[in-house]
Amino acid sequence: MGRVYNFSAGPAVLPEEVLKEAADEMLDYRGTGMSVMEMSHRSKPFEQIITEAEQDLRDLMNIPDNYKVLFLQGGASQQFAMIPMNLMKNRVADYIVTGQWAKKAAKEAEKYGKVNRIASSEDQTFSYIPDCSDLPVSEDADYVYICENNTIYGTKFKELPNTKGKTLVADVSSCFLSEPVDVTKYGIIYGGVQKNIGPAGVVIVIIREDLITEDVLPGTPTMLAYKTHADAKSLYNTPPAYGIYICGKVFKWIKSQGGLEAMKEKNEKKAKVLYDFLDQSRLFKGTVVPKDRSLMNVPFVTGDADLDAKFVKEAKEAGLENLKGHRTVGGMRASIYNAMPAEGVVALVDFMKRFEEENL
Ligand SMILES: *Cc1c(COP(=O)(O)O)cnc(C)c1O
Repeated sequence: MGRVYNFSAGPAVLPEEVLKEAADEMLDYRGTGMSVMEMSHRSKPFEQIITEAEQDLRDLMNIPDNYKVLFLQGGASQQFAMIPMNLMKNRVADYIVTGQWAKKAAKEAEKYGKVNRIASSEDQTFSYIPDCSDLPVSEDADYVYICENNTIYGTKFKELPNTKGKTLVADVSSCFLSEPVDVTKYGIIYGGVQKNIGPAGVVIVIIREDLITEDVLPGTPTMLAYKTHADAKSLYNTPPAYGIYICGKVFKWIKSQGGLEAMKEKNEKKAKVLYDFLDQSRLFKGTVVPKDRSLMNVPFVTGDADLDAKFVKEAKEAGLENLKGHRTVGGMRASIYNAMPAEGVVALVDFMKRFEEENL
């Protein structure tokens, strides 16, 4: 069997060109006689890999010099603890709860200090983004936290919250490099790379330098202090070397596609094909308030759990994989990250049209 259209929310589809290049270099990375998996993280070739990866990411996102780029481990979930451990000087933080990931992050932060949930969309199963233009931001909050794209529910902040001068911390796992961002608006931007950038095992943290201090909460492990990794240029210990190598290739692939402006244009076009179909379908419907729709994760339902299951099964037989919605939501979800070709979305919509005719 050949490759399928993989709509998984993560780990997710990667650009075929990148996988092929990695395959070509698997046994002998550029004349070194070994795989990147087998080489020292202190070797010259790896030094070049990580340096170029960082530079390419800086170019793509236009990251200012007063921000560090860290390649860490532990997934996005480890950041749920690392952020309060490093940033909670007053032991107070404000969280905007727009889905399971923000909810988990808030719960974890509660281990370290007072957490104020200053807005939430849980009342409507997280199907919208609350108005964040004038929130009761706490006087002494060390930061305001958001999950910018909600992977499970398919919502996205189209405008960042007004933090009233407080540091903004954002989990961008599922919208990383999907469109241009203004890094200067954030204190920390971070994400696990397995949604839109690379293989699981790498989390990228882009952090403003003044937030990297020795003044962390008592008991913070060495490995969980940003300063440890910033001082060592992400080489304090053995980094997830092969994962970083693949991320680097994806950065170059995005550059070759025209950068983040071009990614955004492509992603908007792809998402429009699917949303336009959903908006006129008599069988399927999207679950998110239109103005807050994500370009990356598109949940939809028929309203009948048995029919949903039938759809997922038949779609798989047609080479459209991993369309089952998150176990907490049900229905379907199509994740259409950067690496999902436009043809994949067209194939999905064609299949949905056929299924609708046959089952209505
Ligand atoms: C997947 C995901 C996470 C969890 O990532 P792990 O790397 O598995 O810890 C956190 N936040 C968002 C937005 C996600 O999509």
